[in-house]
Amino acid sequence: MNDFKVPYDFKGKVALVTGAASRRGIGHAVALGLAKGGADVAVCDKFEAPPSLYAGDENWKGLIDVVAEIKGLGRKSWSTTADVSKSKDVNDLVAKTLDKLGKIDILINAAGIVGKRDVPVLQLSEEDFRAPIEVNLVGSFLISKAVATHMVKRNQGGKMVHFSSLDGKRGAPGLAGYSSSKFGVIGFVQSLALELAQYKINVNCVCPGFIATNLRDDYFEAQSKALGISPDEARKKRYDERASQIPLGRSGIAEDVAKIVLFLASEQSDYMTGQAINVSGGYVMN
Ligand code: NAD
Repeated sequence: MNDFKVPYDFKGKVALVTGAASRRGIGHAVALGLAKGGADVAVCDKFEAPPSLYAGDENWKGLIDVVAEIKGLGRKSWSTTADVSKSKDVNDLVAKTLDKLGKIDILINAAGIVGKRDVPVLQLSEEDFRAPIEVNLVGSFLISKAVATHMVKRNQGGKMVHFSSLDGKRGAPGLAGYSSSKFGVIGFVQSLALELAQYKINVNCVCPGFIATNLRDDYFEAQSKALGISPDEARKKRYDERASQIPLGRSGIAEDVAKIVLFLASEQSDYMTGQAINVSGGYVMN
């Protein structure tokens, strides 16, 4: 993992990455990519070390390990736990990042949850519908507002990358809350991009397809119990099934998405804003 080359120059930049503590997560891969490119990187997550079903992750120390990796690349780093759906956490996170690292040039908002799966709307509780909206959509608003306030005041431009999904481009049965939150992220990104263009702040999002991270651990745990196989076997079975439906012939890994996020964080994408880029091996094309 994370052995890809970073063709962008982030020297002198400071980045803030949310949802960065999962070892297999996209936020973690992006944080390391930014550091490889020369950025100092603040990282946060709701959990110091999110649980993982993957065999081999037992000793992963989450934020502590991510900070050590970034420092190992010769960059400054700092971490804290913060829930992106809570305004106090978000405002403290941004204030402390400015205090520790001086500025924020790049925001990567990778924090996200799916919430309850496979529950039709007629059976879905209000609470379960709201849960992914609070984290994925309200969280995007809160962190953007706090960081944009700093970026606009500083008047040196900036980059923001949020996370939608293929489920933000077409409906998903059994996932109405998640899908609604991810459609919402695209509307929010377009609106914010229009508002911040005058300040040379680019706001884009990615729409990942089927990427092997911890996002579906609850599903694989349930499948493992239902089928009497290990979680690793349940995961492999599902990803193999999906691979046959994906034009490029495989499901993705975090680095596949991180590479596009790094492009959107770099000056190579200065003329792009308000976009929602699919990263799905060709599974969805519009
Ligand atoms: P992941 O579960 O590995 O990482 C998500 C991280 O967000 C975790 O570390 C988790 O602890 C953290 N988090 C959850 N709630 C939080 C909160 N309230 N505040 C702060 N941190 C919180 O999953 P991932 O696949 O790396 O997900 C990254 C983003 O990509 C998410 O927004 C997800 O919806 C999106 N996405 C992923 C896929 C995929 O196939 N993996 C597909 C489409 C979209």
